[in-house]
Amino acid sequence: MVCAIRTNLEQYPLLELRGVGPKLNEQLARLGLSSVLDLLFHLPRDYQDRTRLHTLKSLRLGQHVLIQATVFDSRLHYGRRRAWLVQLSDGTGRLTLRFFHFSNVQQKAIQKGQLLRCFGEVRHGPNGYEMVHPEYEQVDEGTPIQSDTLTPVYPTTEGIRQASLRQLTDQALSLLTNTEDAALPDYIPAECLPAQISYSLTAALRILHRPSGRELESLNQLDQHPALKRLAFEELVAHQLSMLEVKNKRKEKLAPTIARLEINQCQVLKQLDFDLTAAQTRVSHEILLDLICRHPMHRLVQGDVGSGKTVVAALAAEITIRSAYQVALMVPTEILAEQHFENFHRWFDPLGYRVCLLTGKLSNRMRQSLICDIQAGDIQVVVGTHALFQNDVIFHKLGLVVFDEQHRFGVRQRYALTNKGGDNQDEPHQLVMTATPIPRTLAMVNYADLDLSIIDELPPGRQPIDTMVLSNSRRDEVITRLKHVCASGGQVYWVCTLIEESELMQAQAAQQAYQSLQEQLPELRIGLIHGRMKIGERQQIMQQFKVGDIDILVATTVIEVGVDVPNANTMIIDNAERLGLSQLHQLRGRVGRGQQKSYCLLIYQEPLSELARARLSVMRETQDGFEIAQRDLEIRGPGEILGIRQTGLTELKIADLIRDQNCLPNVADTAQKMQQFYPELISPLIRRWIGDKGQFSHV
Ligand code: ADP
Ligand code: MG
Repeated sequence: MVCAIRTNLEQYPLLELRGVGPKLNEQLARLGLSSVLDLLFHLPRDYQDRTRLHTLKSLRLGQHVLIQATVFDSRLHYGRRRAWLVQLSDGTGRLTLRFFHFSNVQQKAIQKGQLLRCFGEVRHGPNGYEMVHPEYEQVDEGTPIQSDTLTPVYPTTEGIRQASLRQLTDQALSLLTNTEDAALPDYIPAECLPAQISYSLTAALRILHRPSGRELESLNQLDQHPALKRLAFEELVAHQLSMLEVKNKRKEKLAPTIARLEINQCQVLKQLDFDLTAAQTRVSHEILLDLICRHPMHRLVQGDVGSGKTVVAALAAEITIRSAYQVALMVPTEILAEQHFENFHRWFDPLGYRVCLLTGKLSNRMRQSLICDIQAGDIQVVVGTHALFQNDVIFHKLGLVVFDEQHRFGVRQRYALTNKGGDNQDEPHQLVMTATPIPRTLAMVNYADLDLSIIDELPPGRQPIDTMVLSNSRRDEVITRLKHVCASGGQVYWVCTLIEESELMQAQAAQQAYQSLQEQLPELRIGLIHGRMKIGERQQIMQQFKVGDIDILVATTVIEVGVDVPNANTMIIDNAERLGLSQLHQLRGRVGRGQQKSYCLLIYQEPLSELARARLSVMRETQDGFEIAQRDLEIRGPGEILGIRQTGLTELKIADLIRDQNCLPNVADTAQKMQQFYPELISPLIRRWIGDKGQFSHV
């Protein structure tokens, strides 16, 4: 099927529109707009209603409204700032117009008895409501109202006026409707769309740019408007298809040649003091089959907190190393890097493999020397944070990249590391591990390019964790409890939370908590750990906590991911109301790993918002990561962000994974139908939304 396209709006440059010169063109480019299609996808952020007149009696503060009333006074006012005040009345009430900037001509033109039509925001003034610098014009009783559609307000940037954006979108819309052949063909055939999608792309764009008052009856519901859904849906399908394309392209690439090594022949197993769970064995085997295949693996391993993903990664690493390739292990925080380094070192050193830790805090000389050894191939496993990404780190033969706790990495970062093997090398295998319970529907879209393995079983002997939610006013009880816990040989994490991202502020808060706990519990050994400490200091504290020389470890949320001390059996989270569910779940997952009964105490500061209350009850009710993720999505207000950063789809123009979550199941379905029945429409669809380069095409 070929669509004849008269005017290709994707390539139609804005310079060809009336009123666009080089200067405006450049400003538009700063908004990310370079084609007429970009302009059409640049949706209003709000609408003003100039379709009807409001009486002065009916005005409400903050409204933007059109009014019409007669001038009964016009004079200059000399206060702190000179102003020109015009008093209006329409028989139902009064309104003041206030101008700070005006010309004599303007002022002289306004006479008592004239009828004015004004548009502006209703504000408080010294004598009742007023409008400051409204748009106004002189009219007669019968002058018709200009506009029968709502006036869009576009996101803009300095130098571009709303009026020019409106004038440009007018032109774009007429290009859309006046060309004989569809200027913007629907690449997704109607039969592939779910039943609830009712608009054509063209109709959806027209409504969103120029809605009539009736069409957007309730502007509050714009978020759920079917026209918006139509666009968001198409965009999500395009992204899904582009990810699937990446997946297919992979099959054309060659990966390092890894020799088959049965899981039970791995030496690492001998270093462990436990047997693998059935789920760990199954997933390791799935990974093995990928590794020995000639094409690069891209596999996501999902497993709840504590399900034992590290060992699975270690097995994959050993298999890779035994075929003389190197392994990179990439993690989001230094603490986690340190801990992985310790584990891998402990397991691999006896096997004669060298493991190194690469972080941002290394001295230059140390770093240089490690980099040399990595490049020479003398180091088999490199564990690190994003310091790994720096250009000077080049591997001799990189066979496998493991990303742990992948939710912290963007898709781009993930792909960036795969080019680390130097030129002419095959693309390394990729293993992505996450405990972030992402609801299945979201994962389907977000990780469409990955194959999925799930560790759906916890190691035996894990204890359920008793979770309690307490107001800050019951702090004394918490302190008493800590005495009991530590007296009976348990250990405690005390996590301080702060909304501020700054490491410094976090460190200070932890420092304070540390001091007051020391005063309240002089008989206990208390330690402190945070992101601003030197790496050596931190390692030492963690070590002391691990061997039981510290009873209570006061920490910032740096311990959120991956930290593993089985004897710790109590988790206290201070100001728990500040954290999202997935963070709370991650933190709680630090306990419940040993023989002792475990507890989690969530302390909150009153007053507790509805949302926070709901979150804390979810924590009390369930311990299942996937359930928590689902509930999280349900209770989030639309205003709250999941952090698109976390989900990878950073470059969505219109769709929003949270707002549009209810259409996600259909996205995968539509994408699959497209692949099956309309493969020729896939490329144009991807090009429309993601551009020629394709978001991941460099992969
Ligand atoms: P996560 O999946 O959260 O990364 P880890 O890999 O850190 O979990 O494992 C958590 C803890 O469980 C570690 O102490 C690890 O040694 C232990 N563990 C892993 N697998 C098993 C197993 N099969 N049996 C017993 N303990 C295990
Ligand atoms: Mg882990």
